[in-house]
Amino acid sequence: MAHVLIIGAGGVGGVVAHKCAQAVKSGRVFDNITLASRTLSRCEAVAQSVTARTGVSLATARVDADNVAELCGLIRAVKPHIVCNVALPYQDLHIMDACLECGVHYVDTANYEPPDTAKFEYSRQWAYTDRFREVGLTALLGSGFDPGVTNVFAAWVMRHKLDEVRVLDIIDCNAGDHGLTFATNFNPEINIREVTARGRYWEHGEWVETDPLAFSMEFDFPEGIGRKKCFLLYHEELESLVTNLNGLQRARFWMTFSENYLNHLNVLGNVGMTGITPVPFQGREIIPVQFLAALLPVPASLGSRTKGKTCIGNLMRGVKDGQKKTVYIYNACDHEACFAEVGSQAVSYTAGVPAMIGTKLIAEGLWAKPGVWNMEQFDPDPFMADLAEYGLPWQCVDVE
Ligand code: NDP
Repeated sequence: MAHVLIIGAGGVGGVVAHKCAQAVKSGRVFDNITLASRTLSRCEAVAQSVTARTGVSLATARVDADNVAELCGLIRAVKPHIVCNVALPYQDLHIMDACLECGVHYVDTANYEPPDTAKFEYSRQWAYTDRFREVGLTALLGSGFDPGVTNVFAAWVMRHKLDEVRVLDIIDCNAGDHGLTFATNFNPEINIREVTARGRYWEHGEWVETDPLAFSMEFDFPEGIGRKKCFLLYHEELESLVTNLNGLQRARFWMTFSENYLNHLNVLGNVGMTGITPVPFQGREIIPVQFLAALLPVPASLGSRTKGKTCIGNLMRGVKDGQKKTVYIYNACDHEACFAEVGSQAVSYTAGVPAMIGTKLIAEGLWAKPGVWNMEQFDPDPFMADLAEYGLPWQCVDVE
């Protein structure tokens, strides 16, 4: 039985805590959960909800995860086997340093980003590979939905459905509606940095850059969602998938946005509110996107008002037994059902469930392997079985 330390008590952290508690309740894997974050009251609110829903008690703690000494103090006091990092990408390297120093495994859901550059790349985390390998610890990167489940979907399709893959399109649809004029479904600062960054996709062995949101297509989503416009973005799982999937000729990532969301983002961008460069204001410096994030609702508060579904999946074209074949593998998730189960909307839920499963598979030893790994580098089968069991059932259909 393992003791898990969850760091970050936001939208995703709340779901991870509920899902770990469900595993405790069924007598599996975890026997102890500690939830730590920058604001203790957020941890306490999650702990209350977990106890009310599952009867399982969590320990809570305050920690500044940008401070490695403080993190090590907490880890030595709590003595977890594994840390599940669902704070912000800025904390990834600090938490990895603390895990190495204290001898515990590491899981996250988003790759490291330096605060002053909106640039997502794995290089700084892959650089820890030798250090994790030498001390026999596992670091699992990107165990959310996208990245995360989308990587595992790709690995599962390569094991069971295709001999070779030529084209990968990851398509992320949030067809939910929270009824607010403008809000983001995960951390506002990270969301806006991602969407306003230049687009990028992989074609014939090289990266092609585009202006932000310059390309779009329509996709007909299943489960009653229907046709939606999707925009090409750069997304971090493309980087590891083009390295780990052989034969890929094109890999792209698409996301749906409502016209209302894009109009607001355009206006905010035009007046400089999405910028990440410090601006002098009344004798001090502020970062516009951080000020904007402070005005927007926290993602955890959207659960009670969001209706509709998300649908995230991979469209993969390749060859099976010498014949051309295309498959679509996806999960559709209902916002209101997530709220009824754990008090969160589906974007937090679809990221939090896989974060718990990645943590669980390492704790069980099934995905424990010294080094730093992306999700598609492990056996996809136990992960796919857990997805269905822990609330994210999936479908794989032949398209042609
Ligand atoms: P939230 O903003 O809701 O929560 C982030 C939490 O991290 C907050 O509780 C915050 O504390 C805490 N935090 C921030 N800085 C620190 C710090 N220095 N020390 C300790 N705690 C800190 O974000 P989400 O829950 O929506 O997102 C969490 C992570 O999940 C992000 O990295 C996001 O990119 C990732 N994500 C991944 C997805 C995937 O599919 N792979 C999908 C969605 C999100 P405080 O309460 O004090 O602000």
